[in-house]
Amino acid sequence: MSMWRSLSPGEIDLAVPGKQCVQVRLGREAELMLPIVIVHNGYGPTILVAGGTHGDEFEGQITVANFCRGIEPENVHGTLVLLPLHNVLACKAGTRLTPGDGSDLNRLYGRPGGDGPAHAIARFVETVLLADVDWVIDLHSGGSAHEFVLSSNLQARLNSAEFETMRDPLLAFDAPYAIVFDEVSAAGDMPHTGTLEGHARALGKKAISSELGGAGRVTPASLGVAEHGLRSLLSHIGVVPWAGATRPDQSRSQLLFLGRPEHYVRNSLAGRFAPTVALGDKVRKGMHLGSIAPLDDPLAPPEPIISPTDGIAVAIARHGLQQAGAGVIYLADTQDRVVRRKEPATKDGRS
Ligand SMILES: [Zn+2]
Repeated sequence: MSMWRSLSPGEIDLAVPGKQCVQVRLGREAELMLPIVIVHNGYGPTILVAGGTHGDEFEGQITVANFCRGIEPENVHGTLVLLPLHNVLACKAGTRLTPGDGSDLNRLYGRPGGDGPAHAIARFVETVLLADVDWVIDLHSGGSAHEFVLSSNLQARLNSAEFETMRDPLLAFDAPYAIVFDEVSAAGDMPHTGTLEGHARALGKKAISSELGGAGRVTPASLGVAEHGLRSLLSHIGVVPWAGATRPDQSRSQLLFLGRPEHYVRNSLAGRFAPTVALGDKVRKGMHLGSIAPLDDPLAPPEPIISPTDGIAVAIARHGLQQAGAGVIYLADTQDRVVRRKEPATKDGRS
């Protein structure tokens, strides 16, 4: 691809008018080249869009790459910083973690130091790109381990000022679901630290992410939602106006909240996982969600997985074989779209 130019990190300039297709040299010997497309035109916000933060989540990689090829400077009002293969080595290998050093790029932000390619990428994005960025859009999916409902995601406390500010962009994505995650409550193995999204929020940036399917592959539906969502959100922000964009008040997204400890359903023993619910199913507390059959003894009865709460099934583990303590099913509460500040997070006061 002759369109690419090879630059060192110090040569990156987001203010150059037009479209720059750059391979940034991050490795000592060119073994680590990070592809970035920068589009700058006129006045407007600066948006960083990442796909492939995890290399086994292909929806974002394909969607951002398609967008990179089609975008022309005259359609942009501001600056786009597009990272189609954010964790480039993991993307090429199709793995969640960076080959070689086993790093999760999305746990390295805001943590200076460290060796290896994922650290080099995080350091570059933090020091060279993030300072000038107003928004981060990081497109994730369930990867190889899980499949999620197709959803835009926001990290925020329900009914907080941040929720109020970000609700419209979350809905403008127009995925079937819009999920508000509250990692502050330390539910499950939360909060995750070191995420690009979390670091951007700590720096005062706006951040939207997604869980767009997963299961280690893409579908026509997941790609369709990803492509419409990215373009609709960029239009809502105002940086790339698009006649096909969905206004927040027209959004078809069902708003959900995922953040209570009971939302993370774990199996107690290692074994063969047989869910009896499907993505999007409504479940009741006490209902069977599936079972785990012990590994060694086919005559031993499977252990039921019982729902600890009411909710909607928003993620289901993909593999038939699960380790003890794995998060096999994630649930979420349905939420009104209207902001109900100074009221309990759930209608009936359940905690
Ligand atoms: Zn991810």
